[in-house]
Amino acid sequence: MSGDMLPDISVRAPLVGGDLWTTVAVHRADGRCQCRTECGNQHTSGHGACRREQSLGRPLRVVPRVAVSDRAAAGLGADDLMAVCAPCHDGLIRARRIAHEASITQAVTADTLF
Ligand SMILES: [Zn+2]
Ligand SMILES: [Zn+2]
Repeated sequence: MSGDMLPDISVRAPLVGGDLWTTVAVHRADGRCQCRTECGNQHTSGHGACRREQSLGRPLRVVPRVAVSDRAAAGLGADDLMAVCAPCHDGLIRARRIAHEASITQAVTADTLF
């Protein structure tokens, strides 16, 4: 299980439960994944769009459109959220974690230069 190692950059289920989840995943996304290669998969069969439909027991996950802190994510409205399928969610978190770690490394490197 690698879930414990992920930084807090995804919106957790309780945060987007109920109305907000319904607005984003059902009304805006129409029950389809909104990933447009953000997860790192080029989704060539969908011409750059995943559009995987949610199914029973595999609901879409709602995440911020851009990587933000958990605290910031808690205040986001539907406009700043997107619904993605589980595989895209995993890829998205991985991609953002790598970017996050890269930014930390850069900051440390910059510090040591001065
Ligand atoms: Zn997807
Ligand atoms: Zn994707």
